[in-house]
Amino acid sequence: MSLVPLLELQEHDTAIDRLVHRRNTLPERAVLEAATVKLTEIADRLTGVTAARDEVAREERRLDDETRSLEDKAKAVETTMYSGTVNSPKELQAMQADIESLRKHRSDLEDRELEVMDRREALDTDVAAVVAEQAEIEAEARGAIAVIANEEAKIDDDLAAQRAAREAVATTIDPATLRLYEGARIKARGIGAARLIGNQCQGCRLTIPSGEVDRARHAPAGTVTQCDNCGAILVVE
Ligand SMILES: [Zn+2]
Repeated sequence: MSLVPLLELQEHDTAIDRLVHRRNTLPERAVLEAATVKLTEIADRLTGVTAARDEVAREERRLDDETRSLEDKAKAVETTMYSGTVNSPKELQAMQADIESLRKHRSDLEDRELEVMDRREALDTDVAAVVAEQAEIEAEARGAIAVIANEEAKIDDDLAAQRAAREAVATTIDPATLRLYEGARIKARGIGAARLIGNQCQGCRLTIPSGEVDRARHAPAGTVTQCDNCGAILVVE
């Protein structure tokens, strides 16, 4: 039995190993992982900035309500004052003072409300910026997921083709030789069979002692000689 089919088997196995490696190390996987980490961090940040904004917005509404209520009170006193039902000048004077005091208080609160509104608007801008950043990273993640799916589909097609071709070759090799080949592949980082060219094993590129080379070259067909260094089955074509 010729050992030459082992070289073809090796070609398919090397191609399969490369495809599996490429599938596992698609650059988009790192992009997706980085985006996922970033999205967690952004979500935390968004929670914080939204809570701060909501708190200031509540303060703004509270001041607004209070301002309205003060103005309502002032108007109510004004209505009574001009209703003609109060005639005492002292009482009218007291009402006037009351209105002025309510309006002064309202005006102070309005100033505070404006400050709070400025702070709330600045926080709205912060929230919008984080939301925009989130959308950008989400789009990046979606893009990476799409590329990964697309690449995986292509690689899986190639893998299926390589595996089918490999099986077709494997059936032509006797089981004992196949087991030696598989064992060598495990030991020699994927190289189970290598050409012997001159005195050199093409698996590890080391020079084989000439006695061994002679033995490999003149051995009866099907005799398995393995490289002393890497363990690959040496194939003489
Ligand atoms: Zn070798």
